[in-house]
Amino acid sequence: MHGQLCVKIGHCQHNIYNNSYRLFFMFTNPIILQILDHYKKIWAIEKLKALSSWDLEVYMPENGAYFRGKAMGILGAMQQQLLLDNNFLSLIKNVQTDKLNIYEKAVIRNLNRVIEKNQKIPSKLLEEIEETTNQAQIEWRKARENNNFQQFAPHLKKIVKLLKQKTELIGYKNHPYDVLLDEYEQDLTVAKLDIFFNEIEQPLKNLLDYIKKSDKYIESHPLENLKYDKGKMRKFNSRVLAYLKADTTRLRIDESTHPFTENISVDDVRITTRYTDTNFQNSLTSTIHEYGHALYELQVNRNLTETPLGGGISLGIHESQSRFFENMIGRNKAFLNIFLQDIKALSPEIAKYVEKEGVEGVYKYFNMVKPSFIRVQADEITYHLHIKLRYQIEKDLIQGNIEAEDLPAIWNETMERLLGIKPKSDFEGVLQDVHWSLGAIGYFPTYSIGSFNSGLIKYELEKSIGTLEHLIVQETGIEKIESFLKDKIHKYGSTYTPE
Ligand SMILES: [Zn+2]
Repeated sequence: MHGQLCVKIGHCQHNIYNNSYRLFFMFTNPIILQILDHYKKIWAIEKLKALSSWDLEVYMPENGAYFRGKAMGILGAMQQQLLLDNNFLSLIKNVQTDKLNIYEKAVIRNLNRVIEKNQKIPSKLLEEIEETTNQAQIEWRKARENNNFQQFAPHLKKIVKLLKQKTELIGYKNHPYDVLLDEYEQDLTVAKLDIFFNEIEQPLKNLLDYIKKSDKYIESHPLENLKYDKGKMRKFNSRVLAYLKADTTRLRIDESTHPFTENISVDDVRITTRYTDTNFQNSLTSTIHEYGHALYELQVNRNLTETPLGGGISLGIHESQSRFFENMIGRNKAFLNIFLQDIKALSPEIAKYVEKEGVEGVYKYFNMVKPSFIRVQADEITYHLHIKLRYQIEKDLIQGNIEAEDLPAIWNETMERLLGIKPKSDFEGVLQDVHWSLGAIGYFPTYSIGSFNSGLIKYELEKSIGTLEHLIVQETGIEKIESFLKDKIHKYGSTYTPE
C-alpha cells in the first residue's frame, strides 16, 4: 500500500498495434518521428528494468541481489548514453516547437526534463548516491531491528549531504527542497506545500477532536485481531478484482512484503498484495489501492506507447487513482455489503461477528479513526498529519536547519504536537519508513496531494455520472466509473503537466 514507494512510474509502453496509424494521428512532425524512433531503445531498457525490479521483489532468490544490481547498473548507464546521444540531443534542440501539436510538445517537454537533470548531475555523484543508498537500506533494516536510530543516522546524514549537492547542481529559485519535490511531482514547491499543510492542519485536528469526543469513537475493533484463512482471502481478493472488471489477460496479482504496482507495458501491469495473520482489511485495501494504480496505466491511450507520454504523469496523480479506489470505493458501505459472504468465509470467528453486527460492524472496522504511530495503518484523517511531520523534517534537513542525529527527539515532539501521541521507541517512530534510506526525500507529500485529489475527482465524478453508492450496486456502475476516469485522466498519459 504505502509501505514501499508504491508505484514506479514508467514513461512508455509497448504497442502491438499498427505504428503508422499512431504516427499519422498523434505524431506527424518528421523530426519528432526521428526522436521517437531513437527513444524506443531507451523505452525498451526501461521496461526490462521494470520487469527486473518486479522480479526482485516477488521471485528473486535472496542472494540474487549482487549480480542483479550490477546488471541493472549497466542497463542504467546504457540508457543514459542513449539519452545523452549527440544526434538525439541536436534533434530535440532544433525542433521548432511552435509547429508541434500538444502531443509532440509534450514529448519535447518531458524529454527536456529528464535530459536537463542527466546533464547537470555528473555520473560520479549518481553512482555515489546509488552506493550510499544501497548500503543505507541494509543499515536502516539493522537499525530498525535494533530499535536504534543512531546506527542509521550517519547514513542518513550522508544521503542528505549528497542530495544537497544535487539540489545545488540542478539549481533552484527559492528552496533547495523544491528540486527534490519536483522529481516526484513536477512544479511542486515548498511555497505551495506550506500553504497546503497550514490550511489542512487545524481543520484535521478539530475533526479528530470532534470524533474522539463522539460516542462513535472506538479505540479498537474486534475484527482487527481475528485470524483469517489466507486461501479464502486470496479468493476474496480475486472476486474483488473481478467485480472491478480487472482484465486478467493484461494484469496479474502476486504477493510481496510491501504491495506495489509495476508497469511492464500497456498490456502487462503487475500488482502485489500482502497477507498477514490478522486484520484482513489490510490485504483487501492493498489490493484495491494497487488496482487503482494499475488501471491508470492500463487505460493510457495505447497510441502513446513507446513514447515519453505512455504512462501516468506523476505520483500525486497516480496516488489520486489508488486512493480513490481504496477509500471511496473500498471503504464504501455499499461495496462492503456486496462482499459480506466473502468476509464471513474468512473464518468462523469473523463469520460469527458479521452475523451479529452485519454490514454496520464491518463498515465501522474499515473506517475507524484514531491517532496511531504507524503511517501505513493510519486512517484518512490522521494520515495527513503523519505526512506533515515528514514534510517538516525533510524540509529542515535539506535546508540545514536540523541534523540527522537530532531526528528522534524532533520526531517525537512533532508527533505529539500533531497527533497528541508520543512514540515509545525509534522503531514505532522515526525508523518506520523505508523512504529516507532509499534517498527518496521529497516523495511523502505526494501521498497527501493524491488523497486530496481523489476527493476532487469523486466530487466531479458524482456530479456527472451519479453517486458512488448508486454506481457501486449498479450492473454497469463500475464500467461507468472506469470510463469516466479513462476519459478525464487516464487516456492522456503524460500529455499534460500534473497541475
Ligand atoms: Zn500508492
